[in-house]
Amino acid sequence: MTQVKAYGVKSSSAPLAPLIIERRTLQPDDVALDILYCGICHSDIHTAKDEWLGTQYPCVPGHEIIGKVTAIGEKVQRFNIGDIAAVGCLVDSCGQCRSCAEGDEQYCEQGFVGTYNGQDPHGGYTYGGYAKAIVVKESFVLKIHHDHKNLANVAPLVCAGITTYSPLKHWKAGPGKKVGIVGLGGLGHMAVKIARAMGAHVVLFTTSKHKMQDGLQLGAHEVCIYGTNEDRTAYTNQLDLIINTVSAPHDLDTFLTLLKKDGTMVLVGAPGTPHSSPSPFNLIFKRRQLAGSLIGGIEETQEMLDFCGKHGIVADIELIPINYLNEAYERIIKADVKYRFVIDMSTL
Ligand code: NAP
Ligand code: ZN
Repeated sequence: MTQVKAYGVKSSSAPLAPLIIERRTLQPDDVALDILYCGICHSDIHTAKDEWLGTQYPCVPGHEIIGKVTAIGEKVQRFNIGDIAAVGCLVDSCGQCRSCAEGDEQYCEQGFVGTYNGQDPHGGYTYGGYAKAIVVKESFVLKIHHDHKNLANVAPLVCAGITTYSPLKHWKAGPGKKVGIVGLGGLGHMAVKIARAMGAHVVLFTTSKHKMQDGLQLGAHEVCIYGTNEDRTAYTNQLDLIINTVSAPHDLDTFLTLLKKDGTMVLVGAPGTPHSSPSPFNLIFKRRQLAGSLIGGIEETQEMLDFCGKHGIVADIELIPINYLNEAYERIIKADVKYRFVIDMSTL
């Protein structure tokens, strides 16, 4: 065991504060990383505040990790000391079930092990990336082919990037498809960039008037500022696919009616309390579908990193010192982030 400096919460109402955690002794198939950067996902906030219930305290969030390899176990083959690598939302899974066999470790039938607040097969609960170092099984560590000059901007790809890439690919966003993205936060801004790079026509829906120009610059062909249902009626029956990233409960019907026949709205936003359920009629009359999607598997995450590398896609970030964490959480809750906070871990 190694003692490591970290930042976390001791209860659902406690502020983020310095902690000391333990990382396991390197196993033969483990990679040890010194963490350089860690993005802040809204899921970190839901978990720290126990909005999804089941948070184990102390809790150290963080699943958008970029680090430098400092040690490798004797069986490790894909990494060398000094390599830059990434760790996203998953650190283990059963490896045996149908989902794992299909490369969908996030849907592991035994339950995947989350990078934080996951039941650790080595004992206890996992601690995430708001820390100096981490030890992860090689098969859950990702390669980075992006330019090393903007590694901080690459960190958000391993959650916000893959969570939007996976449903965009699964539901075939591409040329000839009109794709709506709801919410311009961490996930939403990656969804806009990736959907555009896939060749789709992108319509951004945002509640924030001041994000209009950014939406266009990030790659949206059209931006709809919405507050009432009327704002959206021009898009009724227009969209093939909607990726809904909103982190709070809201009226889904006003988005479902924007889908064409056979269109699908995919919920990736995961509020702690449910949406008021959609009206069956909005689904029935145009054979519309309402779906959900969870991050993405390891192979698909590597594919997304390579896709983003090829298309020059990184996140737009505000790089912050670790002692700004509590303020960053407050600002994310107010939808005041352009468009991902990333912690510079050298400040810990
Ligand atoms: P974020 O940066 O806070 O962005 C959420 C955006 O939703 C905000 O910027 C805002 O966009 C919009 N929004 C917030 N509150 C709203 C409200 N009351 N009504 C309407 N719009 C509202 O969050 P994120 O990190 O992108 O995460 C988004 C959600 O996805 C979270 O619930 C998170 O836990 C979840 N998530 C899910 C997965 C998965 O695998 N499914 C993975 C990661 C995260 P505008 O200002 O543009 O309106
Ligand atoms: Zn996340």
